[in-house]
Amino acid sequence: MELLKERIRKDGIIKPGNVLKVDSFLNHQMDIDLFEEIGKEFKRLFADCPINKILTIEASGIGIACIVARHFHVPVVFAKKSQSKNIEGEVYSTQVQSFTHGRTYDVMVAKKFLSPEDNVLIIDDFLANGCALLGLSQLVFDSGATLCGAGICIEKGFQVGGEMIRAAGVRVESLAIVESMDPETGTVVFRDDEK
Ligand code: 5GP
Repeated sequence: MELLKERIRKDGIIKPGNVLKVDSFLNHQMDIDLFEEIGKEFKRLFADCPINKILTIEASGIGIACIVARHFHVPVVFAKKSQSKNIEGEVYSTQVQSFTHGRTYDVMVAKKFLSPEDNVLIIDDFLANGCALLGLSQLVFDSGATLCGAGICIEKGFQVGGEMIRAAGVRVESLAIVESMDPETGTVVFRDDEK
């Protein structure tokens, strides 16, 4: 998605440790006009799927998922990262290792919000090592719902997640795949950049 790539080139900040900061438009301050275009693009890419639910993970996936959901006219469920007193009844839960925070945490979704009748699209801001996506896929699998695929805004193609999840048979559509990035020069190379 050219608009997103342009924005990453313009406003993305490359941090040491292979972290791309996009907090001025994607996951802290949020550019809702850009989200609108992202939503339109995911709707186009998954037009062939009978999606009736969007699943994401707190916190940074939620804003994007909500705007995407407006294009599908379906509810959003987000996996919670800690046991909340407000979660009633039984939950599906799994463990996720955080790339950015370097620790493992439990994520959960109330059983009443995922069921075998659901056709789920997972939405997230980043795909790096694939732990978040793997965890969300596991929740869908445990519920008996159908996983239609995953819509990712930025995939870091030099990390293992994309390959691993696709090899597991999950359809992954990423709007921008970063092939390499250089913290010295600030250069970002995308997978389909012309050589
Ligand atoms: P994974 O589980 O695929 O390793 O990482 C996915 C999660 O880590 C995303 O939900 C995102 O919040 C965070 N993440 C991974 N890499 C980056 C990055 O380069 N920049 C930012 N801002 N977040 C990242």
